[in-house]
Amino acid sequence: MAAGIQNLASVIDEARLRPLTAADRLRYGRNLLVPEVGAVGQQRIRAARILVVGAGGLGSPAISYLAAAGVGTLGIIDDDVVDLSNLQRQVLHTTDAVGTAKVDSARRVVAALNPDVEVVAHRSRLGAANAEELLRGWDVVIDGTDNFPTRYLLGDACVLLGIPLVHGAVLRSHGQVAVFDATRGPCYRCVHPEPPEPGTVPSCAEAGVLGVLPGIVGAMQAAEALKLVVGGARPLIGCMLLLDVWGGRSQELPIRKNPDCPVCGERPTITALLDDGAHCGAFPQDQPDSEGNHMNTITAAQLHARIASGETPGSSYTLLDVREPHEVAAGDIAGAVHIALDQVVARRGELDAGKELIVYCAVGMRSQRAIEALAQAGYAGAMMNLEGGIQAWLETA
Ligand code: ZN
Repeated sequence: MAAGIQNLASVIDEARLRPLTAADRLRYGRNLLVPEVGAVGQQRIRAARILVVGAGGLGSPAISYLAAAGVGTLGIIDDDVVDLSNLQRQVLHTTDAVGTAKVDSARRVVAALNPDVEVVAHRSRLGAANAEELLRGWDVVIDGTDNFPTRYLLGDACVLLGIPLVHGAVLRSHGQVAVFDATRGPCYRCVHPEPPEPGTVPSCAEAGVLGVLPGIVGAMQAAEALKLVVGGARPLIGCMLLLDVWGGRSQELPIRKNPDCPVCGERPTITALLDDGAHCGAFPQDQPDSEGNHMNTITAAQLHARIASGETPGSSYTLLDVREPHEVAAGDIAGAVHIALDQVVARRGELDAGKELIVYCAVGMRSQRAIEALAQAGYAGAMMNLEGGIQAWLETA
């Protein structure tokens, strides 16, 4: 039998509802015709305050559809600027917005799409110090974050403030959607008690993401938020919807509240928000190793300068690309030697230990692990990690 809560009441207080105008009836007519929504449902949407954390791949469709649906107040938090590499999936932003703040780009799009929507935009990064202030007072929060420290902080903050959180995550061609409402079901930490060790789970920048996938998942997050607002639906509380768009499959996974959950359990150990420094920085750089030595790094600009001065890969140093063959096929740094991370130790004999070794990957995470693995295996040569990987290299070209 399917898990989840049927016919959950709306999260919107009836006292906030206002009659629809004639213009509302025209603009939102198709919503009004859906029996599950109707005029009262549309009034609830108009009264709703929905916050989207992250105006990126998941935030793009969520913000667009919530604005189109006529959500009364739409909050947007993002500290990033639009980058050319975002446009493959972050359809809220256009080529001429590259270099501008994502919150400004989002605000422009929402104003053009639906001037009825009040936008409350914060160009800031969610942290322990500002989370309560930024999150308090919203009816529903949508998680459009792309890193574990922010995701855990957001999950904990929503439990402490009693706000339902619509979760979404994507990687390659796999996505997942769930609603975490600790008053009725599990929270994020019930399912994943601790963040993964840095470097053990690849990010989209590292592993890639099929551009259409966040479109699907972000739109589903918008749908879940609207279901909570309209009421009477079966939200994805107590179950996680898993999608594999490439395989054409979806699956619903029951998830349960953990009585020992550190934040929503019977004896919580997390009762206030903390920035979890140990897990910050999805792409660690210049981190001390087990002996406390800082790893040697080279910036993309420094490598560009060395090559421009005639010091090409293979001359005084070996440039080692530890990405997978399909990533290398999409483009590499000229002169690089390719050995995927999982073969680096076994094939270390192919490397000239008399030459300096500069290692790179997509964003600098796997290359760091390669250097650590080589050092552990007793590789004697000097090693440097290319900070930010080939992505930083391309950005500084
Ligand atoms: Zn929990």
